Amino acid sequence: MTRTSALAEQFGELKIDALLVSALPNIRYLSGFTGSNGLLLVTPAGSTLFTDSRYTIQAAEQTRGQAKVKIVPGPLAAAAAPVIASRRLKRVGFEAGRMLYDSWQRLKETAPLGIALRPIGNVVEQMRMVKSEEEIGLIRQAVLTNSKAFEAALRRIRPNATEADIAAELEYQMRRHGAEKASFDTIVAAGTRTALPHASPGNERLKNDQLLLIDMGATREGYASDMTRMLFAGKPGRRVRSMYNAVLEAQLAAIDTVREGAAAGAVDRAARLTLKRAGLDKAFVHSTGHGLGLEIHEPPRLGAKDKTRLRAGMTITIEPGAYIEAFGGVRIEDTVLVTANGCEVLTPTSKELAIL
Ligand code: ZN
Ligand code: ZN
Repeated sequence: MTRTSALAEQFGELKIDALLVSALPNIRYLSGFTGSNGLLLVTPAGSTLFTDSRYTIQAAEQTRGQAKVKIVPGPLAAAAAPVIASRRLKRVGFEAGRMLYDSWQRLKETAPLGIALRPIGNVVEQMRMVKSEEEIGLIRQAVLTNSKAFEAALRRIRPNATEADIAAELEYQMRRHGAEKASFDTIVAAGTRTALPHASPGNERLKNDQLLLIDMGATREGYASDMTRMLFAGKPGRRVRSMYNAVLEAQLAAIDTVREGAAAGAVDRAARLTLKRAGLDKAFVHSTGHGLGLEIHEPPRLGAKDKTRLRAGMTITIEPGAYIEAFGGVRIEDTVLVTANGCEVLTPTSKELAIL
């Protein structure tokens, strides 16, 4: 069964006759099209991709007959209306969390009389959670590319380099090792700035006796990887070492609970309990992980209240951390594949605290 027919099978339950897909990763997943401007109308009888004339050749090549391509001059939402009318579609769903208000308004203005526009949740994202063998292969490649780039960059990282220098080296190495791009803006933080979970690299220099946090991901054929590693310039003191060991223990405890059928919330709790024993539970200010694939953050979320049951074939991150203002932070993150009996940690990079 194709992905679009699997999606269309859910239309009865969703009480719709068609779905307008506007999120680009979802369009890519369903049709193969990777352009920056697209709208996909999915019906049980087939799909239509709307895009503009920059993509005439590309859209035909990439969709390979999986969708009918319509090249339109103006706003895509307006071009969908006549197709909706000619197919006599009555209830048309749109991605409530993904369609811009502007497009929705245009759709409403141009839609034929008697059409019901229905807001729909993240149905395509739900389908994307469990990866095919082919997708898992691409994620494996993305993870390996990332780890090789990290190793190559590590040989060049010296104290006194700025965070921005280090980020540039990491991103250069990712491309050299076959990534089409970084999966997200590389995070490099030195010293007390490691207490900012999402620091953006600046002109801060890595000094001796400082922690360095690197969070990076490489994209291959659209699929992301995600890894965080810690380095230390010099000889780490007791407080750094005990914090590092506590986070590592939490990460291993969380990985230990990952298997088909486990609740996402239970994985999060395993990490949180371990950090609590070290008195660091309040310093763990984000969730334990997230799904990744065509997007760097996608369902499921591994947070305390998340009830999603893990399924074999899901690719997730496990990334507990502890952050203490004016001291520093530690995070350790791997990309992990859920299997029937447990999981496979895809990230091959050593989790020992790297000493510079
Ligand atoms: Zn990350
Ligand atoms: Zn992550």
